[in-house]
Amino acid sequence: MNLPRTTEKPLATDVDVALIGGGIMSATLGALLSVLEPSWRIGIYERLDEVAQESSSPWNNAGTGHAALCELNYTPERKDGSVDISKAVKINEQFQTSREFWNHLLTAGLMEGTDFINVTPHMTFVRGEKNVDYLRRRWETLREHPLFEDLEFTDDRAVIAEWAPLLTTGRDADEPVAATRAAAGTDVDFGALTRKLIDLQVRQGADLHTNHEVTGLKKLRDGRWRLSLRDRTWNAETRGRTVTARFVFVGAGGGALPLLQAAGIKEIRGYGGFPISGEFLRTSNPDVVAEHNAKVYGKAEVGAPPMSVPHLDTRVVDGQSYLMFGPYAGFSPKYLKKGKYLGLITSLRAHNLFSMLGAGLKNLDLTQYLVGQVAAAPETKFYELQKFMPTAKPGDWEKITAGQRVQVIKWVKGKGGVLEFGTEVIAAQDGSIAGLLGASPGASTAVSAMLGVLERCFADRYDGWRPQLATMMPSLAGEGSSIADDAAALARTERVAAR
Ligand SMILES: Cc1cc2nc3c(=O)[nH]c(=O)nc-3n(C[C@H](O)[C@H](O)[C@H](O)COP(=O)(O)OP(=O)(O)OC[C@H]3O[C@@H](n4cnc5c(N)ncnc54)[C@H](O)[C@@H]3O)c2cc1C
Repeated sequence: MNLPRTTEKPLATDVDVALIGGGIMSATLGALLSVLEPSWRIGIYERLDEVAQESSSPWNNAGTGHAALCELNYTPERKDGSVDISKAVKINEQFQTSREFWNHLLTAGLMEGTDFINVTPHMTFVRGEKNVDYLRRRWETLREHPLFEDLEFTDDRAVIAEWAPLLTTGRDADEPVAATRAAAGTDVDFGALTRKLIDLQVRQGADLHTNHEVTGLKKLRDGRWRLSLRDRTWNAETRGRTVTARFVFVGAGGGALPLLQAAGIKEIRGYGGFPISGEFLRTSNPDVVAEHNAKVYGKAEVGAPPMSVPHLDTRVVDGQSYLMFGPYAGFSPKYLKKGKYLGLITSLRAHNLFSMLGAGLKNLDLTQYLVGQVAAAPETKFYELQKFMPTAKPGDWEKITAGQRVQVIKWVKGKGGVLEFGTEVIAAQDGSIAGLLGASPGASTAVSAMLGVLERCFADRYDGWRPQLATMMPSLAGEGSSIADDAAALARTERVAAR
């Protein structure tokens, strides 16, 4: 079943679908298409020597199966003190759709092994009266919704100590604290999942070419795209080759913006990207790791971007358990972790200059926060961990560099340049090319994002695919049905993590 991924096949000169980049997004789109249209020829082109080495690598992201069970940024407080849970419900439903798809692939025997996903309770932990009060109100609102009815709340230190002892040991006894816990949270190794999804396509006949960088995209008169490829192994036979494709997906992560710009589609005009780098602390000390089994999210500092919320996580990668803390945000002008330093500069165009400048001026607090993070001494950074885990010792922890996030900057009429923290699909009007910009909530919601690409770019076929999609993902069945309305679908999706 576990056939090796292959780069042995000769480069096909013409494919139906070209997937640029071997991350979770291309892998998911290719898996969907290889089930829906098994006769289509798929080519996957990855610039590095393996797939899932950028953001989808397990140590480049936090591995949280984002279902809004613990992340405070999905439940903002309104001015009247009520808590808006609409975004949390949406993210949770999107994650359940991902789980339904993975469950289908496993049940149908198309994918093997649930080692990429582990049940790991999701907790939120806050300190201080005001935050305790907010967390209680958030829980009271969320638990009314069927997707969150199992969420537990406590402001009893003894209960928190049972849930996650590292949070309470050594903590000042007078400090007000509270926590919520969702026992059914997950930790996901998106790198392992990406490899499984790509293996599935390769077994069905897709061509995977690693060490192949797409350097140019040109629309041909007959409507197809011509991709220029650079073989990074400098193989004389394949150097300077081109491939034509009926449909192109730019799943190049941080590299998507420059490629969409190179394609020259008008839909990319006005878009820019702001790269944010990150670091995590990690420990594999078995005594420390054994003390904690949860993903515990806290509250972001003032000015911090939403994805910089600190969290102390259990991680399982290649069968080994670790604890990870972070992320610490930073700045690097690169668009890819293993990319060029000139990424940001070379993406500047006359059409996105004002968006970039406008967004920069409007987000001075973010700039100030990033400068503070970059300049922070190691002890200051370590103190952030000790706020979560008072007994943390520097000798147990090592620093690792996380993936690059390229946040979307765009021009919005009436607002000017705006910096966004979500993801956005950019597609040409004729549906022949699409790409994904942005990073959050990211890998967890890849299936919904790629279903969006299919609906937009294959409008003439999508209705025909609907019945099959609904069989794979029952929550997609019927007008207006949602996961929350369908308890049976919910139970099915939970089986993926429980296997
Ligand atoms: C610090 C951090 C923490 C995160 N935490 C989480 C989390 O907890 N949960 C979650 O769900 N999401 C998380 N995310 C987001 C998630 O990791 C990303 O949304 C997701 O991995 C993006 O997948 P992708 O396929 O778009 O990009 P990537 O995984 O980056 O893949 C893009 C691929 O394209 C290749 N490529 C680029 N340019 C070219 C080219 N010209 N030619 C050929 N190949 C090219 C790259 O080498 C790379 O392999 C996090 C991200 C970061 C950075």
